[in-house]
Amino acid sequence: MGRFNVAVVLMMVLPLLICCYLVTVKVLSFDAFVGMNGFYFLLAVIFAVLGLLVGRQVLQDLLRQLVEANRQLATFNQRQAEFVNHVAHELRAPLTVVKGALDNLADGLHGSMTPDQLQPVRMSLQETDRMKRLANDLLDLARIEAGRVHLERRELHLQELLQGLAATYRPLCAQRGLGLTVELPPEPVRVWGDRDRLSQVLINLLTNAMKFTNAGGITLELRSEGDAVEIEISDTGSGIPAGDLERIFEKFERVESDDRSGAGLGLPIARALTQQHGGRLWATSELGKGSQFHLRLPIGQPTIPGPS
Ligand code: ADP
Repeated sequence: MGRFNVAVVLMMVLPLLICCYLVTVKVLSFDAFVGMNGFYFLLAVIFAVLGLLVGRQVLQDLLRQLVEANRQLATFNQRQAEFVNHVAHELRAPLTVVKGALDNLADGLHGSMTPDQLQPVRMSLQETDRMKRLANDLLDLARIEAGRVHLERRELHLQELLQGLAATYRPLCAQRGLGLTVELPPEPVRVWGDRDRLSQVLINLLTNAMKFTNAGGITLELRSEGDAVEIEISDTGSGIPAGDLERIFEKFERVESDDRSGAGLGLPIARALTQQHGGRLWATSELGKGSQFHLRLPIGQPTIPGPS
């Protein structure tokens, strides 16, 4: 029997003895300390002291083991992050060279190519782009997790930001036969945020909405809600199973039935950046009908304002 079990048994004996003690004697009477009652009382005290001593020792040992396991886990996590960071870094440079060479081939810099020759070059280019995106996402996530991303906060006019994004993405949506609607309140809505990083979050949500929607469209809606603002990006796409709504914000996690390309890093990056702004990002969805991603940001300046 382990020491933990011994401690538990000893501690369980105590209430049993106290029960025997209470059934046989009236509380607060001198009879409590004589004859069998006194024996029960003594036994209860001995077991209680033993239980406490062993329990204390066991808890101390457990605590020590937990602290050590935690320390090892933190070291392991840090080494793993450093390794991923290193690999992603090392991959980026050769990928840039390969992409450059493939671009030159595709552009006919080394002589014209037949369509049959061009097709594998274009395919390789697509794959190189995908690997570059993956390397960049891995580096980005490593920087965010290590707290090395510093937000350049400024006052942002959200209507202007969303209209700018919609103007860029409307033609791409149209190419896929999708509509892009923007619903904005008449009064100006401003937040204190990093323009590039918030755009990165919104672009990730918009490109996902486009990727997972075959018909219908995407809506970008901005709402003021008390001391916060909410941007909702909704689509009429495949939807996400209820059990996956939180999981997709974890690294490398994707909806199981989804066979489209992607590494599952966009949403964890988007959530981490939102949280750095003091906000929240979550999803709601109805399978087969579409999904909504909610980006909630606090209004108002932080206590330590960024450069303006
Ligand atoms: P990626 O799209 O590169 O795989 P993300 O982290 O951006 O990585 O998304 C994770 C997964 O969440 C996607 O692979 C997809 O399964 C699911 N997902 C994200 N956005 C949507 C959406 N708008 N509609 C349906 N599924 C989505």
